[in-house]
Amino acid sequence: MADLEDLTARMREFTEAREWGRFHDVKSLTLALTGEVGEVAELVQWLPADAVLEGDLQARFGDELADVLLYLVRLADVAGVNLVAAGLAKLQRNEDRFPISVYRSIAPEHP
Ligand SMILES: [Mg+2]
Repeated sequence: MADLEDLTARMREFTEAREWGRFHDVKSLTLALTGEVGEVAELVQWLPADAVLEGDLQARFGDELADVLLYLVRLADVAGVNLVAAGLAKLQRNEDRFPISVYRSIAPEHP
């Protein structure tokens, strides 16, 4: 099973083989990632909130999520961010910020 390091290496190879590295600056990759998130949203924007994704729609949803993942992995690589370490650190901060004893079944308020 591939992990984020594998995906990062494959995306780097994919980019280098095509000499696309000069297009992959942080700004451009951020915009590409944002565009792909928009494509994910477009697939569900008019569905009822409790709709279940099935069949072709689920496959298309997965395809767009894969675009998001690949751009995210590539962006993190170019930006020098270790996604796993950053994600674990952020999760720890969120666990500290929203203790279960206070926030169980309560949506956090955002200022
Ligand atoms: Mg896409």
